Parts: sequence; structure tokens; C-alpha cells
Amino acid sequence: MEEKDRRLESQTEHNENGKDNEQDYEKICYICRRPESKAGSMIVMPGNMCLCHDCMQKTFDSVMGGNLDLSKIDFSQLSGMPFMNLNFVPVGNGGDGEQVQIPRRQQVKKKKKENTGPAFELKDIPAPHVIKQRLDEYVVGQDQAKKVVSVAVYNHYKRVYADSVRRAGKRAADSEGEEVSIEKSNILMIGPTGSGKTYLVRTLARLLDVPLAIADATSLTEAGYIGDDIESVVSKLLAAAGNDVERAEHGIIFIDEIDKIAKRQETNTRDVSGESVQQELLKLLEGSRVEVPVGSNQKNALTPLKTVNTDHILFICGGAFPDLERIIRKRLNKASSMGFGAELKDKYEEDPDILRHVTNKDLREFGMIPEFLGRLPVTVTLGRLTETLLVRILREPKNAILKQYEKLLEMDEVKLVFEEEALEWIAKEAIKRDTGARALRAILEEYMLDIMYEIPKDPNIGSVIVTRPYLEKSGGPLIQMRG
Ligand code: ADP
Repeated sequence: MEEKDRRLESQTEHNENGKDNEQDYEKICYICRRPESKAGSMIVMPGNMCLCHDCMQKTFDSVMGGNLDLSKIDFSQLSGMPFMNLNFVPVGNGGDGEQVQIPRRQQVKKKKKENTGPAFELKDIPAPHVIKQRLDEYVVGQDQAKKVVSVAVYNHYKRVYADSVRRAGKRAADSEGEEVSIEKSNILMIGPTGSGKTYLVRTLARLLDVPLAIADATSLTEAGYIGDDIESVVSKLLAAAGNDVERAEHGIIFIDEIDKIAKRQETNTRDVSGESVQQELLKLLEGSRVEVPVGSNQKNALTPLKTVNTDHILFICGGAFPDLERIIRKRLNKASSMGFGAELKDKYEEDPDILRHVTNKDLREFGMIPEFLGRLPVTVTLGRLTETLLVRILREPKNAILKQYEKLLEMDEVKLVFEEEALEWIAKEAIKRDTGARALRAILEEYMLDIMYEIPKDPNIGSVIVTRPYLEKSGGPLIQMRG
């Protein structure tokens, strides 16, 4: 725990100062943009410009017709040679003695010395009940989802630990005899819009202190077509990890709107943003080494590439799967309309939590291919948020929206109070908008605007009570003066 705090502290320090150590980053060739771990040692030219041996040799070959031996040249004497004026942009005005720099976001952190042990200890992985307890502080309701995710994440990091122990050549004391390899526990998260899918993953990554990348499946297309390549999601994770490959390799990638890459039902053209994307995601989900551009989501000649192993990256794919409820209902009703259960026919029509009955067969009917589903062995469903849950979301989480408004007015020394009935009205209104908890903030913004505008006008105001008639536009908020 202490170690983690220290790490967090050093991270903040790093962010606040905006400085990093130059020596933590690899040198990059200014022509081919390969880092030194790929291109070999670099020749450092005046102005801190680096060139790899291959590019240097090619440059000389083109100028001297190949009659020159690189090893005999003193590179420190080369400043100002006309043919060194290559295709790069110096920082500043490029005057004499100016340093030539590649943007930090395109630089790659050096690998630490050869790993002699696992990156973390088993005791550092929080137990599932601890993960769930911490999630409870932020995410309201969705208990089953939080439980399943906590166990899946716990198992995932145990697997990462076991692998790194094996790689380090040690054997865990209790794994004598036949070696059992643990499979990846990537997660498929199904739940209506605004039910907290992204929020749950974000909270999870923060409390585990691992980098997180959130990508949108709708922007992904098959390689070679307009849109983002599949590997761009790993590129994002690398950026979130501060270009530290080892940190990125223990991170989480959340791919949202995964239902949008369902196989198109009737199509004569190539499905470049549907089934093909599912096919291409397979190798990432399973664990493979991919070459990703650093500091960009497009590969091109000027972006350095880095190899990232996705084997230990936890993938969580989320989506609302809008038509899935109908598919599940159809299947369940069909089953119950046969034999003795026939009278239960409409039992599922009104079930708000119908998604929890989902099976792989339903998802296949929706348009997900079996290989893709096979790589997401853990399925989590989130329920539609009820009125009671929405009221709790308004006031209970650590950073609840009401707490935020209270804090804002507290700065003007004004106490803000919401009547219970007003909260119920807001929750009802949110349900009508059908965008889950997302609607809560929008509604509050609408009604708090006048209050936030008027209150600072009068320094004698001591408290404001938001009432239901105010929200229904049949009255005003109750205002009490100081003293
Ligand atoms: P989606 O399921 O569409 O990914 P989000 O996770 O983006 O929904 O939710 C939108 C916002 O609503 C979040 O930022 C969060 O503030 C709030 N929210 C949603 N669900 C919950 C929940 N169960 N508990 C607390 N806040 C929630």
C-alpha cells in the first residue's frame, strides 16, 4: 500500500512539474523514427539529433556512391554539412546550437533492466470483496455486475502474476507438478445507456492504479479502410501509460459500443466495420504482440513503432445491445409456451432485468461471431436504473452531483438543500429521457442555472431549498436570509 502511495505521489509530482527524465526515454532516429531498441545504437549528432546506423549509411551511400566506411568517421565534426539538412523540423527557430526534438508524446520509455521477478506481489492484488467495497463507494446498485467484475479482475491479475513468476524462471510454491495455465478473463459488459458501464470501468482502473484506454468500436474499421485500425486501441493505452510499455501491458482497454460491430444481417458488400472488425479483434483479445505507432493512431513513416504484448491486457467490451432484450424474450417465451409451463407465456414481457438471462446463443443471433464471444468468457449485465437508484446516485457516491452543487454554493456561504420530493421528481424526469443516469446532470444543470445566477447577487441569502413546485415550474425555491 505504502509503495502504491509513493508511486501515486511520484506520478503527481511528475504531472505537476511537467518534467520527465530525458534518460528514461529511448533515442529515436530522426529519419526512420525507429527507437534504439529496434534500430540499434544511435549516432548522436550536434544539436542532439540521433541517426541510426542504417539511415546514416544510406545517406552517405547516396552522397558518396557507397565508397565510404562509417566506422572511420568522426561524427562530432559533421555539424553544418549541407546534406545533413534532412527532413525534420527543429524546435524554435532552428538557429545555431538549437536542440532538435521529437515531441515527447512520440517518445518511448526505456525498458527497465531485465525482469528478475514479477512486476507485483500476490498480496498487492486486492481481494474481490475489497475491490467491490471500493467500487460501492462510487457506483450505486449494479451489485451483481460489481461482484462479477471484482472476481474477474482478481483472477486476471493472479494470472498475470503466475505468468510473470513462470517467466522469471521461478515456480510458485503451491504450483508443483503439472503446470496449469490460466486462461484470460476478458469481460463482455451489457447494459442500457447510462447504466454505469464506462463509469464502473473507469473507477476500477483508478482504484487499481492501472492505465486505461477507452475506445469506441464505431470508429474502428478493417485495416486499409478509412477509420481507425484495430491496433489504435493499444496505441491509446500506451499513451495513457505515459509511453511506458511495461505499464501499458498491465492495463485495461475498454471498447465501448461493441454492439455496433455486430455482423450485418443482409449485405452484399464487404462488412468492413462489422464482422471484419470482430475478426481482427480476436488476436488482440487473445494476446498477441502488436506493433503500434507511438503518439498517434495512424501508422506512417514518421511515427516510431513499438511492440506491445496484449497477453496481460484486460479487455472489457461494453454495449447497450438494443435489440437483445427482444431476442431473449422471444427465446424465453418460446421455451415457456411449451408443456406445463405454457401459462407463463407473458412472464418475461414486463421483466426489467431481462438482460441477465442472456446466453451466447442470443448474442450470436444479435450478430456477434462465436470466436469473438469465446474470447470474452465473462459476461456481465447491468440493469436499467430504477427511480430509487437514480435518487441514490444523486446523493450517495463520493463525488455525487448534489455534493458538487452543495460545495459550489458553500463557497458563497450558502446552504443548498434538496427536498426529498424534488429528488424523486428529478429521477422520474430522468427515466422519461431514457438515457439513464446521464440525464440527471442535464436536468440539474437546467434548473440550477437560475439559482446559481441569482444567489450571488444578494449576500444576505443564507440558504436555498429546491422544492418540487420549483421544478414543476409552479413555484420558486425557498430562500432563507442569514441571521
Ligand atoms: P454507459 O453505461 O452508457 O457507459 P456511463 O458509465 O457513461 O454510462 O454513465 C454516465 C454517468 O452516469 C457516469 O459518468 C456517472 O456519473 C453516472 N452513473 C451511471 N451509472 C451510475 C451508477 N450506477 N452509480 C453512480 N453513477 C452512475
